[in-house]
Amino acid sequence: MEPIDIQKKWEEILKELENKVSKPTVKTWFSNVRPVQIVDGVLKLEVPSKLVKNWIMTKFNLILLKTVKEKIENIKSIEYEVSEGTITKKTIRRKIIFQHKISIFEVNPSTNLNPRYRFDNFVVGSNNELAFAAAEGVVNNLGSYINPLFIYGGVGLGKTHLLQAIGNEVYRKYAGTKKIRYATTEQFTNELINSLRNQTIDEFRKKFRDVDLLILDDVHFISGKTKTQEELFHTFNELFNLKKQIVFSSDRPPRMIKDIEERLQSRFEGGLIIDITPPDYETRLAILKMKNQERGYYVNDRILELIAQKVTKNIRELEGCLNYVVFKLKYISNPTDSKIEQIIKEYLQTNVKKISYKVIIKKVAEFYNLKEEDILKRVRRKDLAKPRQIAMYLLREIGKLSYTRIGEILNNRDHTTALYAYEKIAKEIQEDFDLSQEIEILKQRIWEG
Ligand code: ADP
Ligand code: MG
Repeated sequence: MEPIDIQKKWEEILKELENKVSKPTVKTWFSNVRPVQIVDGVLKLEVPSKLVKNWIMTKFNLILLKTVKEKIENIKSIEYEVSEGTITKKTIRRKIIFQHKISIFEVNPSTNLNPRYRFDNFVVGSNNELAFAAAEGVVNNLGSYINPLFIYGGVGLGKTHLLQAIGNEVYRKYAGTKKIRYATTEQFTNELINSLRNQTIDEFRKKFRDVDLLILDDVHFISGKTKTQEELFHTFNELFNLKKQIVFSSDRPPRMIKDIEERLQSRFEGGLIIDITPPDYETRLAILKMKNQERGYYVNDRILELIAQKVTKNIRELEGCLNYVVFKLKYISNPTDSKIEQIIKEYLQTNVKKISYKVIIKKVAEFYNLKEEDILKRVRRKDLAKPRQIAMYLLREIGKLSYTRIGEILNNRDHTTALYAYEKIAKEIQEDFDLSQEIEILKQRIWEG
């Protein structure tokens, strides 16, 4: 029998596998897999990490074995060895724990990225490890590996965090030499409309097409918006043809986005699509520990465990609950478990209640000793600017309204006014402890109704 050229066989196997699954998928999961040897009908493969091993075993084991059997005679099974020196989940976690505390975050105007979202403060768990691995893949092989990357999942599960972290990591790794543009699809749409109105479409196109990395968040927002879809389609093509990287997020897979052109949908589906799911208990606890450290709260582990047990839906809620508990515990010196559980329950109850915008306006007005119409009407008065901005911030933050809707409520102001107000207050909260407390109290009053 002739000796087998195992490397050559492996290349044939991958080629065949590309036909059976898809090229990007094979590239993602197999490009760092090496054939080692064949012993007694067992093909040994070296894989770069446990993550890749698990993924291949759960998703590709059968199809891989079948393909291997077609190409190499007498193969009975496949074994995987994890090569050394690669990052494991543990080392990633360790990196997180020792990261520095940073308190002031400013959005970078040239990229629109917020530096608070980074890889090193993104906790990796079984719910997001594939998305995280793909994100790392994108950073390390910009434009040439997974393109586009499409990440989807429910609200508050970390899509924006991961997307922005990709941008920030590219910025860091390539020392600012790569042009990066992050935008929510809402921003993309609004800027497009403005540029059409002001006849500045060339500027708009330069902004979104003259980049090495375009990150578009919440792309499901494009549903039913014909003009935006058309513009995005051409933006995509131009970038893609130049091998520039594109990353999308959405609350659902491309197939389920309603009212979009087929050609755009097929672009979304052309690369790798990965979901993020709700975190398990272990991951929730790790996230709480990190937020606890980042914010300098010093809440003890027992309390974090209780929160992690009770708050299961999403991470934004997890953070919200931690803030709420910290706030409440200021007035209690030795809280018992049952007291803490009660506070958590309180939070969960107020949080699911749908809050009407009227309540928000009313409470903000009350809080600042104003009339509701002072906030709503278009009167120029210096002392009204701040309460108005705070009202707009809260309409977005807990009323969950769109900027357009907020603009309407505040007497047909432009949506950019609402956007500006939201971002301004969000930033100030990070820097100004008093203001952040003020807003916590306001939130409470609103929750209490
Ligand atoms: P989405 O965009 O999916 O709605 P976000 O990215 O805005 O969710 O996440 C909500 C909050 O939870 C943010 O403050 C974010 O930093 C935090 N978060 C989400 N996932 C993680 C994670 N894996 N590790 C640390 N923080 C996370
Ligand atoms: Mg988001």
